[in-house]
Amino acid sequence: MENAKENGGRKLSSNVVVVVFAYPKHGHMSPMLQFAKRLASKGLRVTFLTTSSVNQSLQINLLPSYQIDLQFISDVRTEPILSLKDEHESFDAVVSRSFGDFLDGALRTNINSDYDSTPPRYFVVFDSIMPWAMDVAAERGMDSAPFFTESCAVNHILNQVYEGSLCLSSVPPAAGVSIPSLPVLAVEDLPFFSYEREVVVNFMVRQFSSFKKAKWIFVNTFDQLEMKVVNWMAKRWPIKTVGPTIPSAYLEGELENDKSYGLKHLKMEDNGKILEWLDTKENGSVIYISFGSLVVLPHEQVDELANCLKSITTTTTNLSFLWVLRESEIEKLPNNFIQSTSHKGLVVNWCCQLQVLSHNAIGCFVTHCGWNSTIEALSLGVPMVAVPQWIDQTTNAKFVADVWEVGVRVKIGSDKGIATKEELEASIQRVFGGDHGKNEIKINSTNLMKLAKEAMKEGGSSYKNIEEFVDSII
Ligand code: UDP
Repeated sequence: MENAKENGGRKLSSNVVVVVFAYPKHGHMSPMLQFAKRLASKGLRVTFLTTSSVNQSLQINLLPSYQIDLQFISDVRTEPILSLKDEHESFDAVVSRSFGDFLDGALRTNINSDYDSTPPRYFVVFDSIMPWAMDVAAERGMDSAPFFTESCAVNHILNQVYEGSLCLSSVPPAAGVSIPSLPVLAVEDLPFFSYEREVVVNFMVRQFSSFKKAKWIFVNTFDQLEMKVVNWMAKRWPIKTVGPTIPSAYLEGELENDKSYGLKHLKMEDNGKILEWLDTKENGSVIYISFGSLVVLPHEQVDELANCLKSITTTTTNLSFLWVLRESEIEKLPNNFIQSTSHKGLVVNWCCQLQVLSHNAIGCFVTHCGWNSTIEALSLGVPMVAVPQWIDQTTNAKFVADVWEVGVRVKIGSDKGIATKEELEASIQRVFGGDHGKNEIKINSTNLMKLAKEAMKEGGSSYKNIEEFVDSII
């Protein structure tokens, strides 16, 4: 361990800088920020890098005590963007150039100041959604590793597509798909691409070009959650599970003052008021509903959900709801919904989801099954009602309902492709335990929560993988 010192029990490497480079979207920033914090807590010098446009929707507030250097590079495009394909291509062109300039600048001037006389070595951990980062780093003599923000199962499926062993558009509806180490998957369990299919599939599948070259592949999951698929993949590629990447205070609590991701959504409501409202509710009596930062629900789906919430809180009088509907979605609510349900529910633009999910009043989470939301709910032991919309959410929902059995997947009506009020209501009732005394879903959720916490504890599987990586680079 040349150049490594001890610092209050923490290793301190004076000449390695890890640049953690995240795609500028909420669901990518938060897990990578957490990974950056874990590396910094082990004494590594860490620069967290993303692109400038992120500031339009998010504020990054990192406590100075993390000692993470925060940097932004330009993603400003001057050419007109006429399609999604244009958007991806121009982002890649502009950002790969700014990323190269950033690394050149770092090599010239050293981004941090207090090094020993040895010049720093750089290691890049890049968001797998930007696979070109590996070549940009290699051209400058830097090692790098992709960080995957989806589940291992989803990565496995998409890698099969990348390798040409699976074609998502030609799976016969009646037949299931058998993929080694995964349960048989029906068409509706496979990743689903609802618009600009080809462009989005290419964007997702190209991530796996880094598999052949990488010496480390980080995945935001934990061994106990996806044991079979992790083992299968780890025999072939250097897969390392490093999750759940949620703030330590919600897991093992070993990282000092780590109570939030450090990301503030600019449309965030007064979270204190939301928590005060939750404080007035009985334990396990609130239905929390959120579809994340990107999903745009069909008008009719919002209607069905609204009718379900109105009905279920009338028939089961101790239940209430907290519904996150982004500003752009609120206009889809039925007339007078907010006023007429104000004694039973609260509708907000955005909240601190972790604080909400960890509140005792929350009894279930109606979710789109984005991977962050899923792993947050798993880690906090909150049962889910899965209403997946696209990409990886369909596969996550399959695992929630049928593999981990920590929730119920709502059946989608075949005619309109949406979940009806009746289906939603029945699924929520099932998650609350229905008429049965023993609630298996709640028991399974509590068990998985314990395993999630153990993975990040000293000696846990993700903890050990992070240690191994840190030891190897210093
Ligand atoms: N989130 C939040 N407040 C909200 C809704 C969502 O903090 O009101 C966070 C949530 O905790 C999660 C992220 O936004 O970390 C959503 O990520 P996910 O992968 O679930 O979905 P995406 O937004 O990428 O579709």
